[in-house]
Amino acid sequence: MARIAVGGIQHETNVFAPYKAGYEVFARRDEWPPMSRGIQMLDEVDGVNLPVAGAIERLKALGHEIVPLLWCSATPSAHVSEEAFERILAMMLETLRDSAPIDGVLLDLHGAMVCAHVADGDGELLRRVREVVGETTPVVASLDLHANISDQMVAEASLLEAYRTYPHIDMAETGARAADHLDLLLKKGLARFPVITTRRTDFLIPPVWGCTLVDPAKSIYQLLHKSIDGEVVGISLACGFPLSDVHEAGPAIVVYGFDEKSVNVAADNLLAELESRENEFSGRLYNAEEAVTEAIRLSTTANGPVILADSQDNPGGGGPGDTTEILRALVSHGAKNAVVGVISDPQAALVAHTAETGAKINISLGGKSGYPGSLPFVAEFTILGVSSGRFRATGPMLAGAEIDLGPTALLEVGGVRVVVGSKPVQTMDQSMFSHLDIDPSRQKIIALKSSVHFRNDLQEVSAAVLPVVSPGPVIVDLSTVPFQEPRLKKLTAKR
Ligand SMILES: [Zn+2]
Repeated sequence: MARIAVGGIQHETNVFAPYKAGYEVFARRDEWPPMSRGIQMLDEVDGVNLPVAGAIERLKALGHEIVPLLWCSATPSAHVSEEAFERILAMMLETLRDSAPIDGVLLDLHGAMVCAHVADGDGELLRRVREVVGETTPVVASLDLHANISDQMVAEASLLEAYRTYPHIDMAETGARAADHLDLLLKKGLARFPVITTRRTDFLIPPVWGCTLVDPAKSIYQLLHKSIDGEVVGISLACGFPLSDVHEAGPAIVVYGFDEKSVNVAADNLLAELESRENEFSGRLYNAEEAVTEAIRLSTTANGPVILADSQDNPGGGGPGDTTEILRALVSHGAKNAVVGVISDPQAALVAHTAETGAKINISLGGKSGYPGSLPFVAEFTILGVSSGRFRATGPMLAGAEIDLGPTALLEVGGVRVVVGSKPVQTMDQSMFSHLDIDPSRQKIIALKSSVHFRNDLQEVSAAVLPVVSPGPVIVDLSTVPFQEPRLKKLTAKR
């Protein structure tokens, strides 16, 4: 039995997003649990589909003692403030120091965190943890599939283990794999695996085309399972998050094992497969007008709703979740049986909560982030219902997590219904509609704030999905991103 310190800080940084992440967004509950420390952390994450939860369960099953540090996450946004990073990390490290002696550390990280004062947030976090526990203690970290794996992260961690699915339904499973790797290191008395190798591509993958339910990502990820044998113990492919605009943003492969030749062959084979399929990471995009026209046409014969994925305003990639251009197009085209969600606008939700159901209110909905091209929708709305915005998720990815959208309201304008919430949260679970008595399967058109994650729960009820390019900072066409980082400028300019 070993004493394992477990904790995590998760943030995906889109430097083009309108808001930064301060301490308070890590502290509060959104679609994930609020910040928690020590024993309280074990209760908060228990049973949630998160790496930290999967890791704790597995480590306990392996007979280890858990020393809970701190766990928190914040909805993707621009940089994490220096104050938030330093304050949260100081709390985590304080518990780590006070808990000595520690035999191993397991961290639940995203891997694409950029702080106001440090570009490689996750690398810096790992470096500071390493500073406390020293070189001889194994430190294993799980990562998001969209991690930007830096050389520093590889150097500081004993092993990095990334999700293999997008939508990320294997988060807890990834935590369990990370726990197995840590257990193996402890059993062998090693701080690191003898062979570690990294590969990078000379192209970027736009996240919207990286869904693992379909090719090319589906078959590429299947290769990972086939690479594991006695000599290759860990293999990860992180597709990267280009909008972090850091030097090492983009796809990276990292492989761990005991035999140099086997490890290198596994890395080279995976890289070769990825490179041979580069051009398949693409597809048709629609602007709001085209998407609505096509959705209305398809919906006359479709068996199930046509989904308009408002990818560029996806809060899961740093979007404010409050642009209204698709809503405007649905209203102007007279779309029938259409619903839009979740638009984040705390002021609008508050107005609805202070009026009666059935009342008409004149409000300016959304468009408040100041993002170029995004305007509020000013109109008379009818209040169809309100809710506390607290409910349990029902889909596989959020797996029963307790969600808090803040006060929500169901409004109607020009025959189109709109779910309005009070926090930017990705629309990825049927419960985000059903808590207001909207059954997604009975709609003709659903416009939602998500790129790919909605597919974990809403794809099965939908007849078609149209990716929409509407104003927002989660820029889909990477050739139009105003990258500052010379390497990323170069990678996107040649295409
Ligand atoms: Zn991700």
